[in-house]
Amino acid sequence: GIPRLWDVKKVGTTCPHCGVGCQYNLIVKDDEIIGTEALEGPSNRGMLCVKGRYGSFEFVKHPDRIKYPLIKRNGEFQRASWDEALDLIAAKILQHKKESGPDAIAGFSCSRSTNEDNYVFQKMMRAAIGTNNVDNCARLCHGPSVVGLATTLGSGAMTNSIADIMEAPEVIFLIGSNTTEAHPVIGIQIRQAVLRGAKLIVADPRAIDLMDYTYMHMQIRPGTNVAFANGIMNVIISNGLEDQDYIAGRTEGYEELKDLVKEYTPEKVAQICGIDKEMLIEAALMYAKADRAPIIYCLGVTEHSTGTEGVMSMSNMALLVGKLGKYGCGVNPLRGQNNVQGACDMGCLPGDFPGYQKTSNPDNVSKFEKAWGCTLSTTQGLRSTEVFPAILEDRIKALYIFGEDPAATDPDSNHIRKALEKLDFLVVQELFMTETAKYADVILPGASYAQKEGTFTNTERRVQRVRKAVELEGEMRLDSDVFCDVMTRIGYPAHFDSAADIMREVASVTPSFAGVSHERLDGGESLQWPCTSSTDKGTCILHMDEFTRGRGLFKAIEFKEPDELPDAEYPLTMITGRMLYHYNNASMTGRTEGIVQISNESYVEINAQDAEKMNIRDGEKVKICSRRGEVITSARIGNVVSPNEVFMTFHFADGNVNEITNSVTDELSGIPEYKVCAVKIEKA
Ligand code: SF4
Repeated sequence: GIPRLWDVKKVGTTCPHCGVGCQYNLIVKDDEIIGTEALEGPSNRGMLCVKGRYGSFEFVKHPDRIKYPLIKRNGEFQRASWDEALDLIAAKILQHKKESGPDAIAGFSCSRSTNEDNYVFQKMMRAAIGTNNVDNCARLCHGPSVVGLATTLGSGAMTNSIADIMEAPEVIFLIGSNTTEAHPVIGIQIRQAVLRGAKLIVADPRAIDLMDYTYMHMQIRPGTNVAFANGIMNVIISNGLEDQDYIAGRTEGYEELKDLVKEYTPEKVAQICGIDKEMLIEAALMYAKADRAPIIYCLGVTEHSTGTEGVMSMSNMALLVGKLGKYGCGVNPLRGQNNVQGACDMGCLPGDFPGYQKTSNPDNVSKFEKAWGCTLSTTQGLRSTEVFPAILEDRIKALYIFGEDPAATDPDSNHIRKALEKLDFLVVQELFMTETAKYADVILPGASYAQKEGTFTNTERRVQRVRKAVELEGEMRLDSDVFCDVMTRIGYPAHFDSAADIMREVASVTPSFAGVSHERLDGGESLQWPCTSSTDKGTCILHMDEFTRGRGLFKAIEFKEPDELPDAEYPLTMITGRMLYHYNNASMTGRTEGIVQISNESYVEINAQDAEKMNIRDGEKVKICSRRGEVITSARIGNVVSPNEVFMTFHFADGNVNEITNSVTDELSGIPEYKVCAVKIEKA
């Protein structure tokens, strides 16, 4: 029957599915979550999408949850006690540390989990194990934003706030973001802004769902963002629309940029990008002339072998017209995972302590040695994408994976599986049995977001509370307690009383979080970092008076083609991406009945002209092959992609697109080129 009001409790928390960070209540009856209810959060203003509303709680008490530790014996997982599992983990870590040194061990932290868990995980890797080999899956999505924006502006994060850029934009410049499917509640706000008069300019290889709201769509060829941005800047400068006072007063590197973009005439760029020259010119003039014009971008900019250069091209455009440090403008990456911003902020990066304090700076090393009472490594850590080749070369022997599934989500799965098989010791701490967990020596149960206290940091740097709604089941334990136990067992005694206690330590060692505390958040304050003291209200817009690095840096960047272009054998360019209903490897959304009924299969979008040539019908099974493998999926025929391009979703183990993606990475950030590889298609 319908639950009575007095039988239920409501727990205010943060949606665990994407970086928008929508606020909602979990409605709980008899320790079961039975529904959700949107709250007036700063980023969601009373709205939720299908994933938040329906796909964010059934998985919490799903029968498939891992409820107790498992140890693999003779190829079979067997139930084990926590003592057995933790003793084995400690013994293996100590063995490899002794035999090969601490840098033979690596850890991937979980950007779905809380800031507090992430802080303790990197502390375990650095202070207790003694290595900087710690990373998180930002490496696979917005690593280029972290590196690129830190280089040009000094802070690798969204410069403005969602409310600020959505309040009254004149022009929205949306580049490589399928917002309504990947960040639905921001997508709704873009539609609302357009209905209030904003003009939406889209540069994207696909005719995304926002087409009906778009003033102009430039269907650029995948991987040509740098040329596109250079073309926009060429038009701005040749029309005298650059902001000369701003350039002189607040930036550096302009002359070099100006010389370089001279070569990127509208004719040349239109040809490289496969777009209309007049549109490029109109878009540049509209962007430059508007007072409030945010650039919003996503993985269409970052997931390339030139991803970091693509990001720096975004900040070049905004610097040129003085649109940084300004209300309603800025450069705004939409972060993917609910807490990928936080995992980076907490130092789950090989070259950064919490708050982006570089491990290469000896002052930072001494500061953390003192705070943590240990000796720290000064060796640069490996990025997650460098860890797999290092395993194959015998340099990494043991890997601790907290809540990530690289066997499903990293490019060129075959190469990842070989590496996982070769590892001497793999620990996976997870909610469900994933493709990666199958390779583990020890599996530890993880705690879901609805079973713990903590915080997530959303795409706009806003630290928001996560609250416990239901009890842990079976022998599940809090993730941070598990890390503390591992630390203690390997000789670095560690303990925290609570998540609030962990945040107190974060604040004490991280200047940009110095004013953040659970007490303030529970008292109703909403804090965006940097928040440097207990009286600081946080920072809505970065770089207002000066850039975090002092002056904004222009980077003159030549366009380079993607790594793998189509040829006679593999004539099509494949793009990968997300669909509305699912989240990444679908380990959570794939366990929600209503969602699975609507959508439970991968597909490939093929242009109608190509389909006709290949004699492929809508819904037909097709085989997609690349130089690395093949995958079978269903065809969706239409005009969403251009001729000679195809798009495939990445959520499903059955038809996993990463069997065929290219593992080449961007040198500056290590991100793989998920957005471009060459394929051929045949009937299955
Ligand atoms: Fe959750 Fe993102 Fe949907 Fe908001 S937009 S409800 S955070 S999945």
